[in-house]
Amino acid sequence: MKLDSKTLEAVIAIDGPAASGKSTVGWILANSLGYLMIDTGCMYRAVTLAALKRRVSIEDEVAISRVAQEIEIEILPPGAADDGRMYTVNVDGVDVTWELRSPDVDTNVSLVSSYKEVRSEMVRQQRAFAESGRVVMVGRDIGTVVTPDAPLKLFITASAEERARRRWEDRQAQGHTNAYEIILEDVLRRDKIDSSRQISPLRPADDAIVIDTTDRTPEEIVQHILALRVS
Ligand code: C5P
Repeated sequence: MKLDSKTLEAVIAIDGPAASGKSTVGWILANSLGYLMIDTGCMYRAVTLAALKRRVSIEDEVAISRVAQEIEIEILPPGAADDGRMYTVNVDGVDVTWELRSPDVDTNVSLVSSYKEVRSEMVRQQRAFAESGRVVMVGRDIGTVVTPDAPLKLFITASAEERARRRWEDRQAQGHTNAYEIILEDVLRRDKIDSSRQISPLRPADDAIVIDTTDRTPEEIVQHILALRVS
């Protein structure tokens, strides 16, 4: 399926590795443009969480694919929730926004997202979101697979140490106590799986603009992107 160019004028594709700051940048950008932000990572996390709750083995590709097809994932504006969330994620009508960030989900999500049928179901749902237009879509394969015709594609990255430091800070704030070294190990492990998987590996689209966020604030990056958009 191909999205028509008119619709895609309103899609901004942002990809990048774990904890590169892409969701924060995407969120500020979406708010300043009045667009919706769809963080596609939370969809793969939702499948992983649902599988863990159903006690389905993460190695069982067929069963995990069935979970991906069975669950209903909703991504909604944060609404009245005043707890720092950028959006609310419901799975089968239940708010799982914070559960999606648990260390258990972090550990298992890359394997779940390497499964072909899981990806095709998520990409189908993501294209439906993109069709409504005025969307900043954040993920790993948005510019390469989900909306390859999006006129603005960004690849946001940062050093692994900086990304682990940011994730450590986030997790502390959420009450998890993992050591920095464990988080760095997990970031490196996920980079490896995400970049080397056969289907839709993490990589910048040929025409993506690569932005390193290591020494820059999200606000600086957004100003940079907005300047690109009008030029
Ligand atoms: O961005 P976030 O860390 O929440 O993504 C969780 C995982 O989901 C990633 O490590 C990656 O394995 C997977 N993912 C993906 N394709 C996307 C978004 C996320 O494979 N478009």
